[in-house]
Amino acid sequence: MRLLLFDIDGTLVDTRGAGLAALLDAVEDVFEVGRETVPPLDLAGATDGGVVRSLLGALGRVDDAEIRGRYLECYLGHLKRRLHEEAFVGVRLPGVIELMEALVGVPGVKMGVLTGNVRVGAEHKLRRFELDHYFEDGAFGDDADDRNLLGPVALKRFEAQVGKRIPAEEVIIIGDTVKDVACAKAFGARCLAVATGVHGRTGLVESGAWVMLDDLQDTAKVMSLLTEPRVTI
Ligand SMILES: [Mg+2]
Repeated sequence: MRLLLFDIDGTLVDTRGAGLAALLDAVEDVFEVGRETVPPLDLAGATDGGVVRSLLGALGRVDDAEIRGRYLECYLGHLKRRLHEEAFVGVRLPGVIELMEALVGVPGVKMGVLTGNVRVGAEHKLRRFELDHYFEDGAFGDDADDRNLLGPVALKRFEAQVGKRIPAEEVIIIGDTVKDVACAKAFGARCLAVATGVHGRTGLVESGAWVMLDDLQDTAKVMSLLTEPRVTI
């Protein structure tokens, strides 16, 4: 059994700012302040919950479930709209579709997402790029604010689905930031890092990623990395 957990932004797709635009649209609607008042947000590898927490802090607002719920609902509406705007120029990253097609149906391989996006936001993004049908489940930004807690959540969901334990050594996270690497390490999984996100190679090599690639374009190579049996040295 091999479980592959893909990050979304910077790994599978680049929404070219649609996510940030939607976050700021929702700030204007819910908090009634201009988007220019929001301090710069480092979204790479962040969870939506973590972003909301820092937004609320920066704006001096109370952080509670009611305001979080209202904000995220508003954000999701804007996200869907932004992703379908006529001027939208987001892209699927190089090699992604070829890799998905190669992986789908490989015996013993399960594919999920591990993302900071809340589940509905993840669905909007994956659907927009026609990638949603490749993934059965995963762990999302509404499961925890701390990305490092998401691995065990995904693992548990897939274990329930297959009806047996999946050892963490059989799990590979595919992600574009040092936070993906940390999140893999947090539960004993490996991380195949790709330099297709906003931070490029910055920090990824030193972070202790299992493998580091420029992108996912070399389907044969990525396939063998992701599906070969675990070699213990
Ligand atoms: Mg990412």
